[in-house]
Amino acid sequence: MKDLKGLKRVLLKLSGEALAGEKKTGFDEETVLKVAEQVKQIVDDGVQVAIVIGGGNFWRGRTSENMERTKADQIGMLATVMNCIYVSDMFRHAGMKTKVYTPFTCGAFTELFSKDDAVNNLEDGVVTFFAGGTGHPYFSTDTATALRAIEIEADAILLAKAIDGVYDSDPKVNPDAVKYDEISLDEVLSKKLGVIDLTATIMCLENKMPLVIFGLEEENSIVNTMSGKFNGTYVTV
Ligand code: UDP
Repeated sequence: MKDLKGLKRVLLKLSGEALAGEKKTGFDEETVLKVAEQVKQIVDDGVQVAIVIGGGNFWRGRTSENMERTKADQIGMLATVMNCIYVSDMFRHAGMKTKVYTPFTCGAFTELFSKDDAVNNLEDGVVTFFAGGTGHPYFSTDTATALRAIEIEADAILLAKAIDGVYDSDPKVNPDAVKYDEISLDEVLSKKLGVIDLTATIMCLENKMPLVIFGLEEENSIVNTMSGKFNGTYVTV
């Protein structure tokens, strides 16, 4: 089993839906506070943490053919900004220092992303949120996760998911589905396992960015993952 204790700088990706808990929409404070407590523990242990959050709890792509894709995507990106503002505030409440960056100006709400500034803050123990995706339509928060992780030279991407790892088939459909402890990104690609979207997978492959996948609903899974009690899938490069 891979020892993850050596990871010093990580990018944690949370899906929007994961923040909504049972409700599937909006925010579930209890869920977010549990995440906050865990992130605080790993930050206190000296891990530098950057965060990307999806937007699925507010907006999921185009709602009808009458809507232009670029406009729907802009709303999706703004949904991720709302998520980051909310979660960063919960993190501050839990005792962490935070900063929210966007790739476009949002007035005084956020700061324009700069790699140097983000890395300086990470080194100072500030949890940095990368909101607004890549700033471009036709991309996803998966792509933003890969891009920012590569830019800030993270040691790995931590993907906290509704499912607890990578399986050879969908466990909801196939009760005999087998979870991988470890798998290469090449295999993820050739077996079309869909861990992250294709654009993000290729970026991780080209830039040798490993991924750690685990279930967010599992008790204390972020802390356990970082302290070596890892129960998910390690995607190697
Ligand atoms: N989005 C975009 N460009 C980006 C990132 C996100 O256009 O670089 C939009 C896209 O419409 C997407 C939405 O934001 O559907 C929310 O992101 P995502 O679906 O990845 O959220 P998640 O499923 O992880 O909650």
